[in-house]
Amino acid sequence: MSIQKIYLDNNSTTPCDPRVVKAMLPYFYDHFGNAASRSHPFGWEAEEGVDYAREQVAELINVSSKEIIFTSGATESDNLALKGVFEMYRRKGNHIITLTTEHKAVLDSCKKLEKMGANVTYLPVKGDGLVDLEVLEAAITDKTILVSIMWANNETGVIQPMKAIGEICAKYGVLFMSDATQAVGKIPVDPKATGVHLMAFTGHKMYGPKGVGALFVNRKNPRVKVTAQQDGGGHERGMRSGTLNVPAIVGLGTAAELARLEMDQDAKRLSKLRDKLEQGLKDNLEEVYVNGNVHHRMPHVTNISFKHVEGEGLMMTFNQNIAVSSGSACTSASLEPSYVLMALGLGDDLAHSSIRFSLGRFTKEQEVDMAIDMLTKGVNHMRDLSPIWEMYKDGIDLEAVEWTEH
Ligand SMILES: *Cc1c(COP(=O)(O)O)cnc(C)c1O
Repeated sequence: MSIQKIYLDNNSTTPCDPRVVKAMLPYFYDHFGNAASRSHPFGWEAEEGVDYAREQVAELINVSSKEIIFTSGATESDNLALKGVFEMYRRKGNHIITLTTEHKAVLDSCKKLEKMGANVTYLPVKGDGLVDLEVLEAAITDKTILVSIMWANNETGVIQPMKAIGEICAKYGVLFMSDATQAVGKIPVDPKATGVHLMAFTGHKMYGPKGVGALFVNRKNPRVKVTAQQDGGGHERGMRSGTLNVPAIVGLGTAAELARLEMDQDAKRLSKLRDKLEQGLKDNLEEVYVNGNVHHRMPHVTNISFKHVEGEGLMMTFNQNIAVSSGSACTSASLEPSYVLMALGLGDDLAHSSIRFSLGRFTKEQEVDMAIDMLTKGVNHMRDLSPIWEMYKDGIDLEAVEWTEH
């Protein structure tokens, strides 16, 4: 009998929709041409595929296809936006504002820019994961050129007040960039209506293929330019050289179209399943906490701490069957608690006891029921073995206990 595998880790990557695969296949052999070959039908066919995909992607986010640059994924799009804007606008100022809860692709790009002379402010977030708008506004100086704030957080699903941030940026004439990787294709995302000038996203988080992504760059009011970070044949309006990955781009286009047509029904169905998962665990178990603002978050995500249960250990009890992520990251030899959850003010123990569940288009209700069941058993098992849980049940105030180091 094969082990049933349940995938609740869609924020890490999504399966490629079979309809996307089908659209990609002809571009590996029948239409294999180089989209930059302007002089023969092989090139024209490939270029047609790319043009059509660019329209599909643009339509999903309500922008012009001229404002879409294809890249290898969100990491590259984040790098290009941050480094490209810094290089292009550093005469105007060297100050960039971002959040401590951003993805590493943004944080590490900012770290690199600091070495190149940028002054970066990493704003804290409130306990619910949202940026404090007054703190943001107060951080803007006459040297600020860019605010970079993610649309939705990958660990908690928390959605930032994008429109209000856009208004603040407009008020001070500062560019607004967003890593929208976790939001595009899942909820309506309209950068122009939101005041966002640059926006990064990727295929493999929206049922498209891996290794392809896009950067939206606003072309009018204001006309935004980024300095290329990769030089060569001058593809993608000179902003990103390199022969286009035509099958993957066609896949991203198809994924964008499917998302446009289906995201509302997917979101409705998944938020019901997500709520069922949360409620089921709360009904079955004590000391269960949902992390992040529950009113401003993605419909398919929940990040839950099971107090006094070590998340990595808990995962071991069911990871043959259920794929999720824990709130700890393995850095070299030690398990570090998630910096995102720490930024929300969770203590070490609650951060270490957290699990992220991210549902997706192919998640079935029966899988959620099984997850509730297995999680309940896992948590009970871990707590049965835990002296800390026993002390807690005996009413001992754990905060007051003086632990001795060995
Ligand atoms: C996954 C992810 C990325 C990286 O995307 P790749 O396409 O894998 O490079 C960047 N930002 C966020 C928020 C993500 O979730």
